[in-house]
Amino acid sequence: MYTNYKDHLDKTLNEIREAGLYKNERIIVSPQGAEIELNTGQKVLNFCANNYLGLSNNKSLIEAAKAALDDHGYGMSSVRFICGTTDLHKELEKKIAEFFQTEDTILYAACFDANGGVFEPLLSEEDAIISDSLNHASIIDGVRLCKAQRYRYQNADMADLEEQLKLAKDQRFRLIVTDGVFSMDGNVAPLDKIYELANRYDAMIMVDESHSAGVVGNTGRGVTELYNLKGKIEIITGTLGKSFGGAIGGFTTGKKEVIELLRQRSRPYLFSNSIPPLVAAAGIRMVEMMTETNTLQDKLHRNAEYFITGMKKLGFDIKPTKSAICAVMLYDAKLSQDFAAKLLNEGIYVIGFYYPVVANGQARIRVQLSAAHEKEHLDKALKAFEKIGKELGVLK
Ligand SMILES: *Cc1c(COP(=O)(O)O)cnc(C)c1O
Repeated sequence: MYTNYKDHLDKTLNEIREAGLYKNERIIVSPQGAEIELNTGQKVLNFCANNYLGLSNNKSLIEAAKAALDDHGYGMSSVRFICGTTDLHKELEKKIAEFFQTEDTILYAACFDANGGVFEPLLSEEDAIISDSLNHASIIDGVRLCKAQRYRYQNADMADLEEQLKLAKDQRFRLIVTDGVFSMDGNVAPLDKIYELANRYDAMIMVDESHSAGVVGNTGRGVTELYNLKGKIEIITGTLGKSFGGAIGGFTTGKKEVIELLRQRSRPYLFSNSIPPLVAAAGIRMVEMMTETNTLQDKLHRNAEYFITGMKKLGFDIKPTKSAICAVMLYDAKLSQDFAAKLLNEGIYVIGFYYPVVANGQARIRVQLSAAHEKEHLDKALKAFEKIGKELGVLK
């Protein structure tokens, strides 16, 4: 049997290679950070991590994690409801709710699981999910697992959202679902307008703050802070794998009845292991740090502003952004790959994206800014972009 199946797999893998879509992994031998070392010995500046607040290698989080290893051990060997809940899990849930000004939080092993397990227990055939066309894969998969009627609106298109809300008007409950920041453009969901429409058409809202928590809003509380809607959104999901330390873990936070039902019925929560206590401990420390001071959020905002202004001044075509994502539009797929390869030779690590990851003819390089970057890092990146931009004829 396997001989035939192997041929089938080899054929598929070749198709992926021939389409130029084969993903190779670069191997890092240092901690994650602004400067990383690759197994080739090359040292590069990292502009493609979701390490927005630079917490992936933060001393204080490492200390909190080490202390938890000593007093709570390594693993839980259990799901939450059997014997996988420690005081640290409960405290982190409380801290995340305080952070977003919500009522309660439920932790998952990843935000992929939070999104995978949020819809099916809460909605059924009589209900409607109205989802942005550029929502994250985990939202799309979560929606697939749910029996609710599905409606889709074009990315951040409020006229289309209104159209879909009208179509869904006879359903029992309506839930609008959106990413807070869309990761390919860096644009922020127009949550103020979504909120208005939700009120007008009697709908609830779910926001995935994975790319916006820690980043958007003056104190990094995400899009609900940016639009003054803290505490007003029914469901927020997010990750501990980006701004919030970068290790692992996800959460759903929001109305307490929603969270209570998820604890009873959400399958990735009921049937998958509890996060290690050391991750919960570092998460608690992370929220404390972000509450005690705004240093990291401020630095990230300054860095993003500085870099994006610099890129525009150089003459690059930058997508409008309010996040720490800067999409440098090149439009041509091959150009995006050549550009990224040349930047790596200059010691700048970024990724070029093209169809089907982004729309056809919309190839780009995505730069992700971090509070870990110092001014000289940003200047070095700007210089490298200028040099390669001229070399490849992108800049005059
Ligand atoms: C990264 C991301 C996720 C997945 O988060 P994990 O915790 O890594 O599973 C979910 N939603 C969005 C919008 C993301 O950007």
